[in-house]
Amino acid sequence: VKHKTFFKEIPIRLEGKSLEALRDECYERDNGCCQECGKWLPRHGEVLFRAHMAHIKGRGRGGSDTIDNVRVLCAMHHGTTDHNPKSVPRKVRHAAV
Ligand SMILES: [Zn+2]
Repeated sequence: VKHKTFFKEIPIRLEGKSLEALRDECYERDNGCCQECGKWLPRHGEVLFRAHMAHIKGRGRGGSDTIDNVRVLCAMHHGTTDHNPKSVPRKVRHAAV
């Protein structure tokens, strides 16, 4: 009998204004800087140059839309690290910047 699935965490999904609010919170917490390269990025503007809110654990893998599961990334790092299972712990990244 598979009891495990019963206790499985249900991912939180936000949309519309709630998702926008999470983006703002994420942007402010990370000071608008890419958490991989430390580059400052504007909140709005051209998609290639603005801050991206990236999920640490991807939505497709059951990641939630919560402040603990998102971080600011530049377009380049969003594109290259989003599907990378290897994730450097937050503390280590901050120490490296
Ligand atoms: Zn970057």
